[in-house]
Amino acid sequence: MHELLTNFVNGAWTPSASGRTIDNINPADTRQVLGQVTRSTPDDTRAAIDAAKAAQHAWKSTPAPKRGAILFEATRLMTERKESIAKALTLEEGKTLPEARGEVQKSINLIEFIAGEARRLNGTTNPSEMPKTFAYTVRSPLGVAGLVTPWNFPVCIPAWKIAPALVAGNTVVFKPATTTPWTADLVTRVFADAGLPDGVINLVHGSGREVGQVIVEHPDIPALSFTGSNEVGCRLYQDGAARLKKVQCEMGGKNPLIVLGDADVELAAVATAQGAFGSTGQRCTATSRAIVVEDVADAFVARVVELANKLKVGNGIHDGVDMGPSVDEGQMNTVLKYHAIAKEEGAKLMCGGTRLTDGDLAHGYFTAPTVYDHVAGDSRLAQEEIFGPVLSVIRVKDWAEAIEVANSVEYGLTSSVFTKDVARAMEYVDEIETGMLHVNSPTVGGEAHLPFGGMKATGVGQREMGQTAIDFFTEWKTVYIDYTGTKRDSKLY
Ligand code: NAP
Ligand code: MG
Repeated sequence: MHELLTNFVNGAWTPSASGRTIDNINPADTRQVLGQVTRSTPDDTRAAIDAAKAAQHAWKSTPAPKRGAILFEATRLMTERKESIAKALTLEEGKTLPEARGEVQKSINLIEFIAGEARRLNGTTNPSEMPKTFAYTVRSPLGVAGLVTPWNFPVCIPAWKIAPALVAGNTVVFKPATTTPWTADLVTRVFADAGLPDGVINLVHGSGREVGQVIVEHPDIPALSFTGSNEVGCRLYQDGAARLKKVQCEMGGKNPLIVLGDADVELAAVATAQGAFGSTGQRCTATSRAIVVEDVADAFVARVVELANKLKVGNGIHDGVDMGPSVDEGQMNTVLKYHAIAKEEGAKLMCGGTRLTDGDLAHGYFTAPTVYDHVAGDSRLAQEEIFGPVLSVIRVKDWAEAIEVANSVEYGLTSSVFTKDVARAMEYVDEIETGMLHVNSPTVGGEAHLPFGGMKATGVGQREMGQTAIDFFTEWKTVYIDYTGTKRDSKLY
């Protein structure tokens, strides 16, 4: 349980003057109200932006390695607080405790990696066309970065935006998802307690309309980094572009896992179950389509169904639970809506397909791990992001059809192929339209020091994580220093 969660503005924890609050509910047991969170107004948001703007000059003037040292301290604090952050994450978002620990560890790795980048904010030195002229490039921060994040990785995604924004010398206004305010509070505390000066990080709780939209439109925010749905991201991208802001959006996915005729079917089935049902299918990198060559499809489907049926669904805070609930009623209803669509479209239900209401499950937003077979590649089930524990199996005759079906969706985040043929695997790297891809392993996962993000409708702007994270949060300055002490020879132009 938590105290009233407040905003963090200019180094002070303060509730909105509005006095309004929202309940934070445990999606695994809605009888459990975890506490309340303040609900901010546009004025609260503007106050946070003003604080971030006022703090920016001093922060960018702080030597980068000193900024990095604060992030190393944040790494240490998050490590110390790992268990309590993981518990809060399970309670408010619903993923199982082992999954939550994994997410916090990933955040720790990420902050640590980015802290090291403080000593590598390098530019280039370049030969000049002019005599006695020193030409070089140097990175410069953008100013105040507006960070808008979703509920599904509410520790990790904020961490992978906040850390590079700060290390590059920007100050931050962070607007987390309304559904996951507790973890947002804990993440902000890690950075604040690590020793950031007042105003460098600011947290504003509240709705997309009252807080998010003000961040998007405010003239003192030149950079917007967003992760979330295509519906919101697409509008944010346009609104930002109209104001000539730098914008980065990471959005939906419909990630395929291809199983070819020569694949190790057991490995492929286990990876598919992990990717489809891990984190209740609420990962942007979840496996939602298995594209399987007909020869091995019966054996593959039978094994995935067996694995799905073995999963223990329940409150993720308890030991032995494999899969938690949907994050809220709306998300659960989306999953149930797609079960109705599957029925209409004639997909063959192999397991699941319903809400789970036995015993205590009735108090949470649980649905059963579900497998549909014989799904048409162009059906809604196979094309639209569901964001729940639902796998669609699409049967194909060969490699050519498999890759065509894999690329036939609007999204392009991640994917995977199972084959023993090295040449096929390389061809897959050439042909697949996803920003990340795996050979003989699940579609999920991403390491701190490698770029993360998608192609096509999934992503616009520079990649997050890795060294590429710094590219979004900096601007280049190109410098020419003339030490001839004479007028330029005009013939050189
Ligand atoms: P969402 O509904 O788009 O919300 C994302 C964030 O935007 C929330 O903080 C939301 O605030 C805010 N927002 C809503 N309306 C806004 C507006 N008009 N202006 C500014 N901000 C606004 O997404 P979600 O349901 O939280 O997250 C699930 C989605 O995220 C899925 O589509 C998933 O694929 C995607 N995702 C993508 C990646 C990736 O890297 N590609 C990673 C994780 C998740 P409220 O919470 O107050 O509505
Ligand atoms: Mg909640």
